[in-house]
Parts: sequence; structure tokens; C-alpha cells
Amino acid sequence: MSAMADCGLYVHVPFCDTKCGYCDFYSVALENRATASLVECLLAETRGRIARSDATVRTVFVGGGTPTVLPQPEFAALFEGLRDALAGHPLEEFTVEANPATVDGSKLDILTEAGVDRISMGAQSWHASELETLERIHDPGDIERGVTLIRSHGINRLNLDLIFGIPGQSADTWAESLNRTLALGVDHLSCYGLTYEPGTRLTAHRDARKITPCDEGLETEMYLFAIERLVGAGLTQYEISAFAKAGQRCRHNLVYWRNESYIGVGPSAGGFVDGLRYKNISGVNLYTQRIVAGEDAACESERITGVVLAGEIIMMQLRMNEGIDLDGFQRRTEINPLVALQPSLERYRNARLIELTDRALSLTPEGRLVADTIIADFYSDLFVTSPNSV
Ligand code: SF4
Repeated sequence: MSAMADCGLYVHVPFCDTKCGYCDFYSVALENRATASLVECLLAETRGRIARSDATVRTVFVGGGTPTVLPQPEFAALFEGLRDALAGHPLEEFTVEANPATVDGSKLDILTEAGVDRISMGAQSWHASELETLERIHDPGDIERGVTLIRSHGINRLNLDLIFGIPGQSADTWAESLNRTLALGVDHLSCYGLTYEPGTRLTAHRDARKITPCDEGLETEMYLFAIERLVGAGLTQYEISAFAKAGQRCRHNLVYWRNESYIGVGPSAGGFVDGLRYKNISGVNLYTQRIVAGEDAACESERITGVVLAGEIIMMQLRMNEGIDLDGFQRRTEINPLVALQPSLERYRNARLIELTDRALSLTPEGRLVADTIIADFYSDLFVTSPNSV
């Protein structure tokens, strides 16, 4: 394998206290799971993948799942092991996801010792009834307590996730969730519209008419209000869902959105290394069996070049306000984006939904409201104009 330059590292901890009704990430309830062997396997896979790719890791994101539900000894083993595996790597950012109900002082000591400098917390809402609808285990008081505790341990880079479009949520309760989050002075916020994923309890409740989804117009209003409120408070929107104070953008997420290289470890984790995209097997036991046997945890892999890479660049880079890097697109895919996307380009430009400069193609604020449609149209243009560029 050729030497790879910089990359991110994603570590997937597949346990949660209980499963939230809307979530379709691969995670299982912690119960009596064998957490010690899973942690050993995560570390073995991390060491192996870094060594094989000869990667220089610059950003780390430990997510899941809920890493903070791991019992104390396994939590300590994971972060001590990561610190050792990453010794000598010039880390620029080390983020860990935390649940407001499961973050505590001794775990934060372990994180600061390991060099973690950023926490991403799933706050979701500041209203107990909305948290209940989402089947979250925390209450609004946990959010404030969590933030105070994290800061008292010297970790000041903080992201809070919030969800809009929750059944029963109003424009007022959404505004209050944003205001209370801003009052904490966090430097990064991610605002997601609630989605109904196949196979989740939330979707089953909607289909059984036990809940009434938020009106689409209200959901758009909530999104526009979030942009106005957060930008007014001095944060910059840099991706469809992400807002940050100056210098506080999430470098690890930028790796994904710019289609750069990252190693993913853990059950169901994906990675993109040396142009090869892979996906690990799901299932904690299947995963640990493979690692213990010295086998590759990946169950799928595909070399991503030409038109396939171009499609991925469109899907990811258009999400960012900086848009598609036109030179980078052509260099990496050998496809001229202005020719390949021509069928929809003029139409969307005339409708002021996209903006084109010498360097980039990006969505306008109005375009971001219909991003999925624009991305889908560009994507089909690509396969019509460049079908054989693989
Ligand atoms: S805590 Fe996060 S990962 Fe776990 S079930 Fe809830 S939403 Fe999914």
C-alpha cells in the first residue's frame, strides 16, 4: 500500500444506555455486553490500520453509540490505548461524543489525560416532553450540568447537537432551545431536522398514527430561524447543519465533507483510505471474532475513482458553504465539473439557487433549502454526461 499523508480517525463505540426511538446508527443497549474485549479489538484495529496505511493522523473522533456509557475501566483502557497508538501523530483535534446523562468527572479526567480537547454532546432539545418523544435518557438539567462539568475539566471546545421538527415542537420551543444553547456560549452547534428512518420506533409510531409529524412549512421556518438566530449571535454557518464561532469549525467533519482520507474502526464503521472505501461488519460479536482471528473487519470495499468519486464529491462538498472545489474535482476525477454538470448548472444558476466562481460551485441560502433536489439533479447529470469515466 502506498504511503498516505494526513487522515482522520473515527472510532465507533457501539453501545448506548438504551436505544433512542429515532436512531438508526449501529448501536446496541449496553446491558451485560463484553465491553473489555470490544475495547481491545478497537485498539488492535486502530493500531493495525494506522500501521498498514502509514497514515499521519491529525483528527480523531470517538463516537457511536455513546462512548461515555462504557464502564470506567474499559473507558480508561480505550483512551489510554488511543493515546499510546497516536503518540507521535500531530493531532490537531480530538473529539469525543458524550451523552449529557453519562458524562462524569472521573471520565473527563481520563479524557483530558488522553489529550481530548473537544466534546460533542447530544443535547437535542431543552424541553422534557420533546426529549421524551425522542426517547432520550437525559433531561434538560443534564445539559447545563454537563457543559459546566466539561469546562471545569479544561475542555472548552464544545459542540451541542439540537433537533428541530420534533412532533409537538413549536416555533417558540425551538427558539427557546436555541436561546438556551447560545446562553451557554458554546462555540459550535449542529442543528438537524428530525428524519424518519426505516425500521425505527419513531417511524413505526408515525405509521401507526401515534404521533403527528411536524408540518413541513413549520420545519422550514425553524431551520431558517436557526440560521438567522445563530448567525446573528456571531456564529458562521459552514455546512447545511453546522455553525461555528471563528476558528471553531470541526476539522474532523471537514475531512468527511471534503472527501479526504479517514480510517474508521469498530463495528459498522466506514473508512476511506488511499482511494479505497470500506465498511466494517456490524454486530459486536461478529466484529470481535474477526479481529481476534486476525481477519479484516471490513465486509465491503470499493475503489472510488472517476464518476463514482465525482458523485461522492457532489454529495459531500455541496453541503458545505465553501462548495465544490472545482480544480480539486477535475484533478481527482479527471472530469470537468462545468461540462459534466452543465444540464442543471444554468437552470439553477438562473434560479439563484447556486453560485459559481472561478474556484467553487456552491449553494445559495435559498439553494440550501432544496439541497437534496439539486444534489440529485447534479448526480444524474454526471452519469449521463460521464457514464464511462470510472
Ligand atoms: S444515544 Fe445517540 S447513538 Fe445512542 S441510540 Fe440515542 S441517538 Fe442513537
